[in-house]
Amino acid sequence: MSTLRFSALQEVLHRKTVVVEENERRSELFGKNVFNEQAMRQYMTKEAYQSVMDAIEFGTKIDRKTADQIAVSMKDWALSKGATHYTHWFQPLTGSTAEKHDAFFETVDGGGAMEKFDGGQLVQQEPDASSFPNGGIRNTFEARGYTAWDPTSPAFIYGTTLCIPTVFVAYTGEALDNKAPLLRALQAVDTAATAVCKYFDKNVTKVNATLGWEQEYFLIDTALAAARPDIMMTGRALLGHAPAKGQQLDDHYFGSIPTRVLNFMRDLENECMLLGVPVKTRHNEVAPNQFELAPIFEEANLAVDHNSLLMDVMEKVSQRHKFKVLFHEKPFAGINGSGKHNNWSLSTNTGVNLLSPGKTPMKNLQFLTFFVNTIKAVHDYEELIRASIASASNDHRLGANEAPPAIISVFIGSQLSSVLDELENVTKGKLSPEEKTDLKLNIVGKIPEILLDNTDRNRTSPFAFTGNKFELRAVGSWSNCAGPMTVLNTIIARQLNEFKEEVDKLIDTKKLKKDEAIFNVLREYIKASKNIRFEGDGYGEAWEKEAKKRGLSNNKTTPEALKAKVSEKAISLFEEMKVMNKVEVEARHEIELEEYSKKIQIESRVLGDIARNHIIPIAIQYQNTLIENVRGLKEIFGNNFEKYANEQIDLIQKISNHIAEINSKVEDMIEERKKANKLEGQKNADAYCNKVKPYFDEIRYHCDKLELMVDDNLWPLTKYRELLFTR
Ligand code: ADP
Ligand code: MG
Repeated sequence: MSTLRFSALQEVLHRKTVVVEENERRSELFGKNVFNEQAMRQYMTKEAYQSVMDAIEFGTKIDRKTADQIAVSMKDWALSKGATHYTHWFQPLTGSTAEKHDAFFETVDGGGAMEKFDGGQLVQQEPDASSFPNGGIRNTFEARGYTAWDPTSPAFIYGTTLCIPTVFVAYTGEALDNKAPLLRALQAVDTAATAVCKYFDKNVTKVNATLGWEQEYFLIDTALAAARPDIMMTGRALLGHAPAKGQQLDDHYFGSIPTRVLNFMRDLENECMLLGVPVKTRHNEVAPNQFELAPIFEEANLAVDHNSLLMDVMEKVSQRHKFKVLFHEKPFAGINGSGKHNNWSLSTNTGVNLLSPGKTPMKNLQFLTFFVNTIKAVHDYEELIRASIASASNDHRLGANEAPPAIISVFIGSQLSSVLDELENVTKGKLSPEEKTDLKLNIVGKIPEILLDNTDRNRTSPFAFTGNKFELRAVGSWSNCAGPMTVLNTIIARQLNEFKEEVDKLIDTKKLKKDEAIFNVLREYIKASKNIRFEGDGYGEAWEKEAKKRGLSNNKTTPEALKAKVSEKAISLFEEMKVMNKVEVEARHEIELEEYSKKIQIESRVLGDIARNHIIPIAIQYQNTLIENVRGLKEIFGNNFEKYANEQIDLIQKISNHIAEINSKVEDMIEERKKANKLEGQKNADAYCNKVKPYFDEIRYHCDKLELMVDDNLWPLTKYRELLFTR
């Protein structure tokens, strides 16, 4: 009997639910462990508080003396909460978060000790972070990396550690993390959008990008997961036959949440409340043991931090409940994978959502301006958006008839489509008073204030307008939102700059009125970006053909998709918007290609190992039982034995065939790996993608066939039905 699998199943049988008490209201728990405005007001001097607020709102610098004051207040607050350590919390290019804890504790002359923390320690640190990927940025020893405080994301206490969100940059200034480019992109979109807002409202002085992510994930019992080396090493099942029951009955989606899972969610949500992560929604997803969690949206940088933090907290909390969280986009073949929808909008300091239609024609013209510019930006940079969500794991999901295709398109619904169609007919140049009235009353004025309820929901669109925000649905559940958010906000910023320039030019040279000029420019944008709009079924084959005709990209694999990140167009975009320079762009590209190759390499090794060292020996063992049986039958029935041993002999042959196939395919795969390893960069990734990866399905096919033949008592790997239906 396979000991690991069966002892795991035994263990699960005796699992007790960890009951989670909820004694305090969530509103009372919320932000308790965050050095938020309330805590700052309580602990800081007025001047220090104001300087942090100015830094958040206007990006002003905080001088060293004030930093010292802030540090002391932060330390006092943290100590009052029982913190013993502090860390600069950052997001290196591995995609996850990093921390190195230092104690507040320091010795003083005379043998005593005290808790200390000063402005220098708050503002800047130099972690010995030489082992993080840097894509060649830190090749020389002078180009060391340091972390620098990001005051726009408040410090928080997790466990007994004060975590200070920071950027991670080289001394030469190049960003070594995901946060620095994101902050620059948010700055760019703020400047560009604020300038455009001035056409409509002079009081707007700041525009924030907002992000509301929806995190999908799987929960698997830890003991069952531990009996799966593939899940432990790669985050997904590399093999396993589909269970008799999968998701065909649709009985999991929005079903009642299993008690053990609900307790995990409660526990997690309590932690989130303390950390100020405003989680709000929880439910079962489509696949068995798949769930979703969504927060109230926030300013994009904070939302990105909160999502990274959440993923970390989820792993920790899940351990208490003996669950393993799977963030992989496609942990199990044959059932739905996981995504992370990024709901995005722009919001002014005056409290206006720029993608929400308003009450007056002027408000609606403002809405249309941002709406059309967004579509235009996505049209111009669709390939870059595709690149921003590319990863080895997300490749399994895109275009797999459950997630958006690898083709980026925009869905806006029939109502808004007809508004845009009408706007295409706006007269060139000056508008007659009649036309103006008509536009205001009958077209722009007809955009209903509340679109939310009557926007069509097209689940197959990768970038859909959903009433008061756009929803980028192609983002993978495992990815850091910073990547796609950096791209989206950068292209919108560039687009809005261009828009402003064109409108101003029409006002200056053609002497058009402001609204005339705006209508004129929007008309051209609507025409120019028509190709990206698609209202039909994004999963269908017909769309693939149609998209090709329209000239839209369809990059199905990561090595293909990533090329758009280092195109001349992309580099000049990032340089123009001061988001990244060429070195930073190329470094990221190099890291992502390498990460892709390594992930496929690891999967390939794990698969080879499982197939040869776990499955073949068991198959042989079972085959020997069959051989023994045939021998026995021969003894009893003599020459007549075949009549009775037919099935067994057939099985013996089949098992031998599958074993032979597995062996030769694994051998060939290893050969391809060796060849791939001699190549570098793009060629290396291409080889892993096109030469190594295709063996996965072939090897899996034979292993899965064996799973159906071999005695269940012998099978070493926990089966799909056990992984997916135990909770
Ligand atoms: P869905 O129908 O896509 O599942 P949900 O209501 O679950 O929609 O999720 C919507 C998400 O969109 C939530 O995380 C919500 O906070 C977010 N959201 C709502 N308005 C905005 C906005 N203006 N900007 C960004 N995100 C938003
Ligand atoms: Mg959604």
